[in-house]
Amino acid sequence: MGYFLRFWKKPKNVASLLKGTLSEEMFDESLLLDHVKIEDYLMVALGIRSCSFLTIPAEFENGDELGKKIDVLCREDFQAVLSATADKKMVLIPKLKKKIRESFKKVIFASAVYRAHMEWSRKLFLQTYDIEVRPSIHELYLFNNSRVKKELRRLRNVRNVARERFALSMGGSERKTGLAFPEELSSDYLFSVGKLLEYPSCCVERYVHDRLRENATVEMRASRQVKELRKEGKEPDIYAYFVRNFFPCGPRCRSASEMGRKAFDLLSKVSPKLADLYLECVRKNVEMVEKYPELIGQYRKKMKKRAQKLSRM
Ligand SMILES: [Zn+2]
Repeated sequence: MGYFLRFWKKPKNVASLLKGTLSEEMFDESLLLDHVKIEDYLMVALGIRSCSFLTIPAEFENGDELGKKIDVLCREDFQAVLSATADKKMVLIPKLKKKIRESFKKVIFASAVYRAHMEWSRKLFLQTYDIEVRPSIHELYLFNNSRVKKELRRLRNVRNVARERFALSMGGSERKTGLAFPEELSSDYLFSVGKLLEYPSCCVERYVHDRLRENATVEMRASRQVKELRKEGKEPDIYAYFVRNFFPCGPRCRSASEMGRKAFDLLSKVSPKLADLYLECVRKNVEMVEKYPELIGQYRKKMKKRAQKLSRM
């Protein structure tokens, strides 16, 4: 084995690496959001989860700004689609998608913030896998085991099958379901994601049940559970909200809480500062779940405004 390979060999224990200056460096890093640092990078690096993902550019600190840059590059194609007749739209929509794809590469992949994310993957010996979920939205998966890569490829196929089935059932028209992505209605897809991200099975089962039966009310259910608990004068277990955008089956789910506590304990051993930061993250996670109905209202308003602005540009 040459020097290069020996040098790049993954250390047996990333924790020991983090006990040094690396955790200070991570703490001070301004190009990664706090929850991304801890929940996506460190929890995988420390072996608390074997895979995580972040949505790009939404989970970039300057995600809004980067999104707007892409909009500006695509505005002519966007306006052409808006003013076209139905038959011309068939040609113009794929053209717009291609333009968005190219602009995404130009703006995102070349950005300092994207490069910082790649650099941190390298420093923590994490592998990455990029999936385009829409021309303007990607998911960046982080993991440290090649087995996960195989699972991610399978997941991509499951997602594609779910989307094709949905398009067929809609007769080819892109009708809205109230969900951002049609695969959210595929139990095969949802169970695969839950397993991949190592969410407790009780929480995954509840999520899939709510999603399929009541259609898009998982978030409302989770918010209601926290509010009702508080009304009884009790508090949710913050550790059960161990990562962002995860919905425990209940505000005091034991299995979910164990994940959060394990993360906190391991982080405390590596760096008390990062452990404190994690506590802030889980507190925010609870708040986000609780305030979901209000937040989604604000988000929809923002997206509407952005679309209106784009059509006027
Ligand atoms: Zn649970």
